[in-house]
Amino acid sequence: MQAILLRQGAKQVDLAEILDPTCQPGQVLVQALETGICGTDREMIQRQTVDVPPGQDYLVLGHEALGKVVQISSGQSALKVGDLVVPIVRRSCGQCNACNTGNVDYCYSGKYTERGIHKQDGFFSTYYADWPRYLVKVPDQLQDVAVLAEPLSVTVKAAQIAESLLRRVKFGGYYSQLGKRERALVAGHGAIGMLGSLLLLEQGFEVYVLGRRPKGDFQRTLIEQSGISYLDATANQTQQLVERNGGFLLILEATGLSEVTFQLATYLGRNGTMVITGVPRGPRTVQIDGNTLMANIVRTNQAIVGSVNACAGCFGQALQYLSIFKKKYPHLMSKIITARYSPAQFREAFAGKGRDDIKVVIDFRKD
Ligand code: BGC
Repeated sequence: MQAILLRQGAKQVDLAEILDPTCQPGQVLVQALETGICGTDREMIQRQTVDVPPGQDYLVLGHEALGKVVQISSGQSALKVGDLVVPIVRRSCGQCNACNTGNVDYCYSGKYTERGIHKQDGFFSTYYADWPRYLVKVPDQLQDVAVLAEPLSVTVKAAQIAESLLRRVKFGGYYSQLGKRERALVAGHGAIGMLGSLLLLEQGFEVYVLGRRPKGDFQRTLIEQSGISYLDATANQTQQLVERNGGFLLILEATGLSEVTFQLATYLGRNGTMVITGVPRGPRTVQIDGNTLMANIVRTNQAIVGSVNACAGCFGQALQYLSIFKKKYPHLMSKIITARYSPAQFREAFAGKGRDDIKVVIDFRKD
């Protein structure tokens, strides 16, 4: 079968013929329909280092996927041939309490694997075998957007964490002001930032997105048409807003940039929470006013927390949100997948991301 893979030390991905997967008893064979390209894939290519599976000198990339069940090997399974599924990313270490209870995204041992990222082949291949517990069934009517379940699941988990931290500062059923919507800031508007801002809107926040795009820009317009305010980082609009109205109750970081992230912390309001989802690689020294930052965190009960990956429950919720978003924000949901390429067009698909590109996917139904 065909697979898009990255060889150790290579500067580019390759389309290669590899052996079809064999299903172990209890596993399910999935045929790829669509697999999305993510910042993490591009970053691995740029770094020219991949965490290959043992005994292999390449990694099949791809961790955002939609597929169709084509074979159930044996045993009982809630899935049947023909079902649409999205696979989750992490795989259990088999040792720790988090993994053993299905919470692989909280693995304690650090010996988890991640498909397409860390020591297990991913989903840029015609077929992949998987265990039913890692596959989440997709309603047929979500076929056009379900490949977005993975990036959305990351924000569903981040929002859950924020909710658990903010619960402690909610009094009499409200945060600071009776009946008033609280403000949330989302930094970055790739697929995670864009879907995350819709999620927070849906959860009742007044949402602002921080980016560097001018008025009239394609991505900025999609965001503004959804009832979200855009703050231009180049014009220092966030600082001005914070000085005028106070800081944000919730900040969702989706930029992967440490210098932006520490700046964001200064935009947090009293009792505010910031959830960081970006994963920068390699060292980078940034300058911050540590004293003021630390004093504010303590004096105003702020929380800054990281969130990685998501478990099957978050993927299930992500699918429910996708169905709501399709109805409420059709202009954005019909445009967020900005390009679909066939596997043969992999070079074009993986070439530098265009300015308007949000999510680029490989469509395995195309030749
Ligand atoms: C993926 C996560 C993964 C993380 C770290 C992200 O791109 O969406 O699922 O846990 O990278 O490897």
